Amino acid sequence: MISKKRLTILRSGFAALISLTVVSLCSCSCFGRQTAKPSAIPTSVGSLLEVHIIDVGNADAILVYNREDSLLIDAGENGDGDDVVNFLRSHGVESLDYAIATHPDADHIGGMDTVIEEIPIETFIMSNLPQSIIPKTKTYSDLMAALDGKDLDITPAQPGDSYPLGDAILNILGPAGVFNSTNSMSVVCRVDHGTRRFLFMGDAEKDAEDGLMASKANLKADFIKIGHHGSHSSSQERFIKAVAPQYAAISCGAKNRYKHPHTQTLELLSMLKIVYYRTDIFGTITLVSDGSKINIRTQKN
Ligand SMILES: [Zn+2]
Repeated sequence: MISKKRLTILRSGFAALISLTVVSLCSCSCFGRQTAKPSAIPTSVGSLLEVHIIDVGNADAILVYNREDSLLIDAGENGDGDDVVNFLRSHGVESLDYAIATHPDADHIGGMDTVIEEIPIETFIMSNLPQSIIPKTKTYSDLMAALDGKDLDITPAQPGDSYPLGDAILNILGPAGVFNSTNSMSVVCRVDHGTRRFLFMGDAEKDAEDGLMASKANLKADFIKIGHHGSHSSSQERFIKAVAPQYAAISCGAKNRYKHPHTQTLELLSMLKIVYYRTDIFGTITLVSDGSKINIRTQKN
């Protein structure tokens, strides 16, 4: 059994290793261009928050950690579970403080049963779905069986709730209403670290965005994980303007059958001068925040 302190050391060592790798493999101009301007107020919180948008094709899996605390948002498709578990372990994550299944579609919960079986989870968060949209799929029943097998209760996603994540805070923003699609019932959450904010949309669509804007939630964020793999069913202009991010990431697979990400979404991001990264082009995307600055590195290109 590795202690939490040991895990922190493991992670720090890995971060240092990666930094060296970035310096040696990536041109300085590339890395420099992807660095946020320092805030006028020194607000570094003395710890690094890492956000990994894991490349799992046209699916979602996101690891966030700060100090000894870790959060997994989704776990990819059926068949991705082992890769997600390996990714966690390679980053020194042997247990999760939080796992969020944003919504019960296979490209988000497919690998979650494997994660639950392999990695101890403290708090498992899901939306409270209307009975009419609870899936009858094997993928969903596999997830329920895995939760049962570990006696792991579901903590309902409640907008307004927040949870400590090391020096950071995990805030639940959505679903801000009851919607009749699993996509729009996605758990939407924001992680705050110092003055930096990271927003994760799941597959929330425009009606869910309307709900968020009508709620009292502060949507401003430096980074957004774009909703629904860059589909035009999400990311309406007034919502993206309300978030006003500098950076965005789109989790999408090369040549996927939905043609994600859609042109409208990419054109909007370009028009608003938001620097965006796609997992189909860049592979796994990693953001590192010290609470003041954000550095971004990518697996490819
Ligand atoms: Zn999806």
